[in-house]
Amino acid sequence: MKFIDEYRDPARARALLDRIRQIARREWTIMEICGGQTHSIMRNGIDQLLPPNVRLVHGPGCPVCVTPLETIERALAIAAMPDTILTSFGDMLRVPGSDKDLFMARSEGADVRIVFSPLEALQIARDHPEKEVVFLAVGFETTAPANAMAVRQAAREGLSNFSELVSQVMVPPAMRAILSSPGNRVQGFLAAGHVCAIMGYEEYEPVAAEFGVPVVPAGFEPVDLLDGILKVVEMLEEGRSGVVNAYGRVVSREGNPEARRVMQEVFEVADRPWRGIGVIPQSGLVLRREFEIFDAEKRFDVGHIAPQESPLCRSGEVLQGHLKPSDCPAIGRECTPQTPLGATMVSSEGACAAYYRYHRKS
Ligand code: SF4
Repeated sequence: MKFIDEYRDPARARALLDRIRQIARREWTIMEICGGQTHSIMRNGIDQLLPPNVRLVHGPGCPVCVTPLETIERALAIAAMPDTILTSFGDMLRVPGSDKDLFMARSEGADVRIVFSPLEALQIARDHPEKEVVFLAVGFETTAPANAMAVRQAAREGLSNFSELVSQVMVPPAMRAILSSPGNRVQGFLAAGHVCAIMGYEEYEPVAAEFGVPVVPAGFEPVDLLDGILKVVEMLEEGRSGVVNAYGRVVSREGNPEARRVMQEVFEVADRPWRGIGVIPQSGLVLRREFEIFDAEKRFDVGHIAPQESPLCRSGEVLQGHLKPSDCPAIGRECTPQTPLGATMVSSEGACAAYYRYHRKS
């Protein structure tokens, strides 16, 4: 298969690994931001094949994991209202709230539906004019254009029974927060190829310059990831910072201008809380004033929400690269994919789920 098989070629992967082993002389800590990359790294055993002085830590780039508990509680409260249909992606239905998830709400009678895109939620709103249809819109820059398009389309059609509960976050402010934190160990980044396909990589250039770090957009196949790691290690060993693109078949410097334009038309930048991390300034997207009638947070008064995180869960440390999931005392004991204490164990992109699934120990 073109663009797949050659990026899974064991000979190419071995050659890249050999090169990394040859040039890596000092200790380096590199963060792969994206949970999809974390799973590919674990699935392919890349973390175990790298020389011990090249250490990978996992970043906050799992959209399900960083959606605030308060948003989950708000979704549960909206789902419990009469004549309401709550829609979202499948993973979101399993994220634990303070005492239940959206699947449990569904078993208690709430109309909660899995959709594969916000446009599907929009169709449900057209089909059920007698109901309020809410789409729980989470994610990074990858989901924001489609979520923006759904709102714009609802506005064009005058679809007054559709709204979005928005928890959109962006990667560069999270990188800045990680690099600025006192306990930071991250010296270079693999940037997520699909985010860069939308946003390009030009927005990483100021981060790389400000903090003197290498940033390498990379794909998701083993050869993509090893090529990205090699480029980061080369730059670190040579004392270089900046952005070098390792995913040229998908990513350009400017990204997808049309997707960026629709995002900017519908959303504006705001401070945003990240689950387990806290508020990161100017890291989120909220609906602009002209679209606020589609904002479920404003449309539904759910009263005061006081969410309770599990005192055992350390996913905030995991998401910032401070703790390996295998070092969380609850992993495989109180916390499993069947009994998750945190979203990082639920999501198909969560780092804790990856460690549990691929049986990684420290
Ligand atoms: S293993 Fe479970 S309890 Fe520990 S940090 Fe991950 S999600 Fe939280």
